[in-house]
Amino acid sequence: MSFEKLGLTPKTLQAVAEAGYESPTPIQQQAIPFLLEGRDLIALAQTGSGKTASFILPLLDMLTRGRAKARMPRSLIIEPTRELAGQVADDFAVYGKYHNFTVALLIGGESFADQEKKLTKGVDVLIATPGRLLDLYDRGKILLNDVKVFVIDEADRMLDMGFIPDIERIASLLPSHQTALFSATMPQPIRVLTQKFLNQPKEITISPSTKTATNIEQYIVRVLEKDKREALKTLLKHQKLEQAIIFCNRKREVDSVYNAMLKSGFKAGALHGDLAQTNRNETLKAFKEGHLNILIASDIAARGLDIEDLPGVINFHVPTSSEDYIHRIGRTGRAGKEGKAFTLVSPPEEKHLALIFKALNKKIAEYSLDLEFKHPSKKTKTPAPVKKTTATSESQKPSQKETGFGDHVPAFMYPKSGNEKI
Ligand code: AMP
Repeated sequence: MSFEKLGLTPKTLQAVAEAGYESPTPIQQQAIPFLLEGRDLIALAQTGSGKTASFILPLLDMLTRGRAKARMPRSLIIEPTRELAGQVADDFAVYGKYHNFTVALLIGGESFADQEKKLTKGVDVLIATPGRLLDLYDRGKILLNDVKVFVIDEADRMLDMGFIPDIERIASLLPSHQTALFSATMPQPIRVLTQKFLNQPKEITISPSTKTATNIEQYIVRVLEKDKREALKTLLKHQKLEQAIIFCNRKREVDSVYNAMLKSGFKAGALHGDLAQTNRNETLKAFKEGHLNILIASDIAARGLDIEDLPGVINFHVPTSSEDYIHRIGRTGRAGKEGKAFTLVSPPEEKHLALIFKALNKKIAEYSLDLEFKHPSKKTKTPAPVKKTTATSESQKPSQKETGFGDHVPAFMYPKSGNEKI
């Protein structure tokens, strides 16, 4: 199937061709003609499926009629994180290069004055995080009565982040409009939201959330908690991963792994919700431009990040839900490219791993690493090559050899348990 068959305008088709896309992805094939008809849509699709273009392309053509009025955006796209909002704005610039639309980004951490200035001039497309949007609305700086198209992206992550009441409030502030809701999964509160706010929606499912892309090679590496930093360094070296995202479960762990990797001479960046927005933007830019080799990130900060040609993802800790696992590893192997995903698993994390195996309905192959480590009385060992083995259902205890750092790792570097938000 070709893009020409979807009913898009020549301007949009030209931009798509220049983006290098030859044919629409399954979600684009299904969602675009439907959204162009003005109907409500629920799309169950993972990031990496091409879902962003599936709503931006028809939106561009739907907005060709009419003009924006001051403080009254004509379309509204809600994203759970600032990074995702920024990425969607970047995609708009690519796909909308032949349309003369004004796009504004309304996200926390950016100056209110700049955002307000743009809104006053009138915007066609407003891309916002829920908190900042409601903040401006409550201060009378924005009117929502001209919104014709409302896109809720990554709805399940909105739920995780506690944004559903905000989304409900935003939906109730809008006049009669078309809604498109995208979500990787459909937990009950999201289902309820769709029943409440969507009008006879068509529902499309692209890939069940329990499936991971087949072009991603997945491995687990069983290792003691105290040896994880060494395992990470060895893995990066042996795998010759030019770039990788390292996922940690908590902000504190992001910081400590980041510091350890910097000390070891890696060109590293850190991304989590406590860092200033300018800092996050700069880090992401540097990583995308290839100035950084590794990005250590929390789930929320890295949700949906689209980094072209990312060769690998390493889970420094096993994510506590299979959905997070799928989202994390989906940062690599994007748009059909090859990718590798490794998960470091310490004995207490076996229970989370078992949940992931269960959700994926398969085991993940195991890599065993011979860790290099420095011992005060011995010379540094030359790292042995990575040995690939097959996964077994039993938990295998790491061997004596794998106890890497030994007494070198100061106690403060060990991750502690806790339930802080990412
Ligand atoms: P998304 O699921 O929206 O995060 O998109 C994932 C990646 O797929 C992005 O890097 C897009 O540039 C790319 N992409 C989107 N549509 C297509 C297409 N039809 N052909 C090839 N790549 C695409």
